[in-house]
Amino acid sequence: MSTVKKTQQVADQYRNVRRIVSIITSLSSPYLAIFLGIILIVFLIVLLVFIPFLLFADQDKLQSSFNDGYYWSVPTQLDSDGTAYVWPVPSISRISSSFGTRDLFGTIRNHNGIDIADGAEKTGNQPIYSMAAGTVTLAGAASGYGQAIYIDHGNGLVSIYGHLSTEMMVSAGDTVSKGELIGRIGAGIVGRSTGAHLHFQINLNGTPVNPLGYVQPPDAAVPVEISYRKLNIDYVYQFLKDRESALADREILEMIDQAGKKKNVDPHLLIAITGQEQSFVPKKNNHADKIIKNPWNVFGCWCSGKGATLTTEESATIAASTIVKLSANRPTGRDPIEWLSALDNPKGYYAEHRGWWIGVSKFWRALLGGEG
Ligand SMILES: [Zn+2]
Repeated sequence: MSTVKKTQQVADQYRNVRRIVSIITSLSSPYLAIFLGIILIVFLIVLLVFIPFLLFADQDKLQSSFNDGYYWSVPTQLDSDGTAYVWPVPSISRISSSFGTRDLFGTIRNHNGIDIADGAEKTGNQPIYSMAAGTVTLAGAASGYGQAIYIDHGNGLVSIYGHLSTEMMVSAGDTVSKGELIGRIGAGIVGRSTGAHLHFQINLNGTPVNPLGYVQPPDAAVPVEISYRKLNIDYVYQFLKDRESALADREILEMIDQAGKKKNVDPHLLIAITGQEQSFVPKKNNHADKIIKNPWNVFGCWCSGKGATLTTEESATIAASTIVKLSANRPTGRDPIEWLSALDNPKGYYAEHRGWWIGVSKFWRALLGGEG
């Protein structure tokens, strides 16, 4: 049941009680009115105590909301090299406490970061990785966090990892690379905390910002390898032009880049899929003008049904959303592109053809050839 429905129900009940009270008081003795008045007050007190629970009860279901609504968790900030920042605890995707929200009774907690935890057993001693390259400015005791690591990434960006184990892999002054193992979550109660968890905070010019604008939990997001990076338009344009592709159009490429950015999916991968699905839409194909509107064959095919009614922009966005959806729940060690068309993917698969991902991977690497 949704929070809105619950609140509405409570309000309805309250209105009903008031109606009954007014009917009865108009009919009977003042004693009954006083009695009902007391019941009403007790009811109101109970209501006031429980309303916050009703309103905020859904916070624990944060995890399940990833499956339907990705939008809020798509990071808006990318690393300076244009790739995604790294989620600090790959083994845990559960956020036990979000950024800056209210507590059960509606008071502002001013939580400066997010807490990452999944029960004491699965949380204590889990390895923590640096979200980006930088310089360690503190590794040790920190007020409120027990043991903590601070990493300065430059440009005013600092990441903070709190409630750690004393066993650390870095010390102040060390430079770390992106995704480098830096420490472990402390087991048990470390600092001002109620149980094993990582307090993960990002400061921008000294002010805490919502970390979900920078990182996202592993099962809610596409893996770092295939997450958004800026499309190398010059290189890709030439690549497509050499193949006499109808996609060799800067405006279309710009648009595919935007679709990828919006969903945090690598636009090079989007174009690689058109290579596997439609040989990059050769201009000489009699249906090129139609295929180019849906070269990802979303909704089955460019040729019929809903798939034949889309614009290139719409089909690019749907293809990107599909990649996000299919990327969820990827077992560790599985190739991120293979997983998109794996038969054991619980969200379904992009294509039935078993060789699909090999072709896509080959095109994807070729399209990235222009990088570095
Ligand atoms: Zn915290």
